[in-house]
Amino acid sequence: MSSIETDVLILGGGPAGLWAAVSAAAAGARVVLVDKSRCGSAGPTVYGTTTLWDIPAGPARAAAVEHALVRGGGLGDPAWLHRVIEETNQRLRQWSGTRVTEAGGDPPRVHLDGASYLRRLRRGALEVGVRIFDHHPALNLLVDPAGTVVGAAGIQRHNRFRPWTVRAGAVVIATGGCAFLSGAAGAEGSTGEGLLMAVEAGAELAGMEFSSAYGLAPVLSRVRPHPTVAPGLSMRFAALYDESGAELPDRYLAALSAIADGRRVYAALDEVPDTVRHWLSRHGAVDAAGRVPVRAVLEGTVHGAGGLAPAGPDCATTVRGLFVAGDAAGRELVVGAAGAAGGLSGAWALSSGSWAGTGAAAFAATAERVSVARPLAGAGLGPHAHIDPRSVIGLVQEHTLPLRRSYRRSAGSLADSIAELDTMWPGAQFELGGLGAAQVRARQAAALLAVARWAGYSALERAESRGIHRRIDHPEPVADWRVRLRCGGLDEVWVRREASREPVGAELTATRPAAV
Ligand SMILES: Cc1cc2nc3c(=O)[nH]c(=O)nc-3n(C[C@H](O)[C@H](O)[C@H](O)COP(=O)(O)OP(=O)(O)OC[C@H]3O[C@@H](n4cnc5c(N)ncnc54)[C@H](O)[C@@H]3O)c2cc1C
Repeated sequence: MSSIETDVLILGGGPAGLWAAVSAAAAGARVVLVDKSRCGSAGPTVYGTTTLWDIPAGPARAAAVEHALVRGGGLGDPAWLHRVIEETNQRLRQWSGTRVTEAGGDPPRVHLDGASYLRRLRRGALEVGVRIFDHHPALNLLVDPAGTVVGAAGIQRHNRFRPWTVRAGAVVIATGGCAFLSGAAGAEGSTGEGLLMAVEAGAELAGMEFSSAYGLAPVLSRVRPHPTVAPGLSMRFAALYDESGAELPDRYLAALSAIADGRRVYAALDEVPDTVRHWLSRHGAVDAAGRVPVRAVLEGTVHGAGGLAPAGPDCATTVRGLFVAGDAAGRELVVGAAGAAGGLSGAWALSSGSWAGTGAAAFAATAERVSVARPLAGAGLGPHAHIDPRSVIGLVQEHTLPLRRSYRRSAGSLADSIAELDTMWPGAQFELGGLGAAQVRARQAAALLAVARWAGYSALERAESRGIHRRIDHPEPVADWRVRLRCGGLDEVWVRREASREPVGAELTATRPAAV
């Protein structure tokens, strides 16, 4: 593919992008999907069992919404939560793949094998005519003279890095979240280019201070785990001990605090399946006492809540022609200040993908097509590399990955990080670059830096602790801060409080569930 035209272009082929693709096709649109890796074989979902809330209408649903609102520190929106649950429940009723319903789950949920879920979705998308282009990283958006997004451009990894361009009536960003290359399972491609491309087009972000989600993993898990063992490597729910051998009662949070204090934490292997235990032993992850030393791994916005702000029920962004789905979207409306976990992130990927696909198809059907389109100039897209992307990535990681930076925040450390990251920005913007694979690496480095700055500025602004945003200088939630934050900007990052709750608008009635 070098230059083609379509109605809807989807960037990213994880669950959100694939649901967007089948939904746009079901609404009658011609659909093209590009993925920088192989669509359906990348991203965190492929690495494990996907859990989705599957809650029928009734008291269980009301209770789940209530619980999510409390857990989210009052920043969620009940109407959005109800929509997500309803959409997921409807779509799962039509799901023809294998599913395991958790007996007595609270809230009720189903488990799908992540890899087969994505394979089934990919096949479903191809069956309804979606054109999928693997190994086609998107680098920047195309806009018309009015600033409406009318396509995207990138390069073909498997065709001598030749450029590609897709002109489209609407574009859906489904490129996932940003985990700052921390080594979180499946998140090696979660580097934030979708957010950068959208902000370059003028889009706004929401909830970027809630980008400090951490997971627990074996110290040696930088070895790429085989998919059959990867699910067992999340040590979040294992019994955890400190170095004295005392069990940590409040497992996950106590473990993070202990690691932040410089203490060692170990996971017990009792409940771990044999295959995983053998894998861990083979890779030297088990110590002489038979325990697994664990480390904290930043999952950033992947398990956090920050991303592109949805501006309406169809997951349109604040830029015309541009829609967002999945982890690339700001999920404060559903998860509030808490991280997206426990079946809600999978439900969000499905429902936001469905709405974004349907919304993009409707927009494309009515949008006036103009012949003039220009690629947006982007940070790190220069023809020559004057700085090494690794130096940018190293700085970003220094200011994001350690618990003292993202788990225990303070005005002092945030201001210090912001100053250093800001100083790097002009260099990253103009001095990063290159051709072919170097261009992709440069763009990823620029995106990581941009995301770190948005997260840092938003975290500095929110002078309280709420959900996964923890400030040691403001350790409690503050009533005045029960507001959402928007942010954006490139050379100058801005943050503002949302003046009032954004209207949810009418339910999107146009969705016609596609049988997948
Ligand atoms: C460690 C970890 C484990 C998780 N496990 C689960 C789980 O088991 N179940 C679950 O429901 N959720 C899980 N999650 C949450 C999970 O991230 C989301 O539920 C889900 O994967 C989000 O789907 P997505 O489509 O938005 O993004 P992703 O799944 O991240 O997919 C994004 C896609 O976009 C592509 N892409 C990225 N940039 C570009 C670009 N520039 N151009 C083109 N393509 C691009 C990527 O290659 C990828 O295919 C986990 C998260 C973490 C951090």
